[in-house]
Amino acid sequence: MKKIITYVVSVTMGIMASSEAVTVVLDFNDPTQGTTERTNKRGDTIDTFDIRSYGFDDTAANRTALTNRILEEVKADFHFDIGQVTGNSAMNGKRLDINFVIGDAGVAPSNGDSEYYVVQIGTGDGAFGVAVDSSIRRADGSAGYYQGDSSVGPPTTPGGDLVVFNHGDAVPNGAIVSSVYASNLVIQLYSTDRGDIERVTNLFSGTISHEVGHALSLKHLDFSKAHTKVNGKGSIMATGLPRFEWRYDRHFTLAGTDEDGDATNPIDQLQTALGVTNITQVPEPSSLLCLFAGLGIFTLYRKR
Ligand SMILES: [Zn+2]
Repeated sequence: MKKIITYVVSVTMGIMASSEAVTVVLDFNDPTQGTTERTNKRGDTIDTFDIRSYGFDDTAANRTALTNRILEEVKADFHFDIGQVTGNSAMNGKRLDINFVIGDAGVAPSNGDSEYYVVQIGTGDGAFGVAVDSSIRRADGSAGYYQGDSSVGPPTTPGGDLVVFNHGDAVPNGAIVSSVYASNLVIQLYSTDRGDIERVTNLFSGTISHEVGHALSLKHLDFSKAHTKVNGKGSIMATGLPRFEWRYDRHFTLAGTDEDGDATNPIDQLQTALGVTNITQVPEPSSLLCLFAGLGIFTLYRKR
């Protein structure tokens, strides 16, 4: 009986444990958050994410549908089966050890992970997106750090406290490590794709995953040089990607050349930076009940 209890406890723990992974919170700055501009460490500010410019009526239902779809696509970008993609059978059933949830800057993530960072999505100035390089993890898997200097800023944490960052300083938990500018990204959308949730999702998920890739130490991939695509998909980290590729799902690539002309393998580098975990199916509550019901029956049977 003790063995059975041990078994059930360990199985249950395995199911319940939210892993020790890092979580990235996607903060879509919605109208109810007002026009408050929030600033990340680079001094980038952001305002409301306006889904009307993407062809959707600004309703709560549309907003939820679109942002959840984007969340699922970003997860898919990172939670692929490494064994299948790399051909290394030892990695079958393994994925990168990182989680994503929708949430708000300054609020702990809903999945209970204790280490988390924020990507904010909304109206802003500048590029399609920005990220603080290696702010979540360095290429060797060590803790992220701030590579800029105190002249960039004034930097703030989500709570609004002024913090001066110097080269090599640790990045505080909960920090905003990337901004994605929906207001600029819209120019990559074909007019015929307005209101097309799949196309709009690809536009955002590819850009968000690109910026998170930078925060995990990845440099740009030189699209003009040979690189090993996965399933024929465009590269998430590419620079110079043709506009039409932004309409489709993109993927991290295997071997290629980075923007400095050095050999790179983004998928290998992400494995080193993040580590891996098992791909597990989270059981529905009903199947958990079945497990316990089954145990009860089994225990009764054993007692006879
Ligand atoms: Zn980039």
